[in-house]
Amino acid sequence: MVFKNIVDMHMHTKNSFDGNYPIEDMCDAAVEKGIMVIAFTDHVEMDYFREKGFDKDAENSYNDIIRAKEIYKDKIEVCAGVELGEPTYDIKEAELLINSHDYDFVIGSIHNLRKTDDFCELKYEGLDVEALLDKYFYELKLLADWAKFDTFAHLTYPLRYIVGENKIPVNMQKYQKDIDEILSILISKDKALEINTSGLRQPIGITMPDESIVRRFKELGGKMITVGSDSHFTQHVGAGIQEGLAIAKNAGFDCVYIFRKRQPVEIEII
Ligand SMILES: [Zn+2]
Ligand SMILES: [Zn+2]
Repeated sequence: MVFKNIVDMHMHTKNSFDGNYPIEDMCDAAVEKGIMVIAFTDHVEMDYFREKGFDKDAENSYNDIIRAKEIYKDKIEVCAGVELGEPTYDIKEAELLINSHDYDFVIGSIHNLRKTDDFCELKYEGLDVEALLDKYFYELKLLADWAKFDTFAHLTYPLRYIVGENKIPVNMQKYQKDIDEILSILISKDKALEINTSGLRQPIGITMPDESIVRRFKELGGKMITVGSDSHFTQHVGAGIQEGLAIAKNAGFDCVYIFRKRQPVEIEII
């Protein structure tokens, strides 16, 4: 089945340290692909907010998005988003940032443990992967508890590097209780779960989280799903969204969500 209502709620421009293209190029790519709604969610890593210039990136990103919203308003809906990395590592700054901008959509994510490099940069040889994942899931619980975001991004992110790139097997059974706990917190706080499709184009070959976790979210009473390609390049805009929507549908969801002014709006999966 080919879905018609395509939305991509996770994209990065060159205002992200790892982004590559100006916002107009990303918008043009999305229009060309017939996407209805997109959200720009440039990185703001709260644990290095001022130290690494994320405070300036946040302003540039926000201003560019507001400009693009106006320029593209007759062609595509552009949501003003932000990907808040590790907001629980500096709650005061994170809340200040959210409260001082008129965001449509806030993504909450964890890319690294405290005072540690991003999971993508760690050398896994000789590392206690189980201990690392225990700490990761603990941090995710704190993030879910904080809950001042709209969607919870790329749950199982470290597996992209541990399993996908380093081929270290992980028994996910061991973390089922943690995952249930995280999903239950999200549900109790009316938060969305993101299906991040970037893994489909990487060695891990599956979405983050995968279908089994999306199903579990539904079983536990989850209502809101967002889908995002996490594209950092124009060629990845909308990538894997069809598969992401199929996973949501298979798991029993009839719609996915976009956000306007921090309010969820349903988009039927058709
Ligand atoms: Zn991320
Ligand atoms: Zn991202």
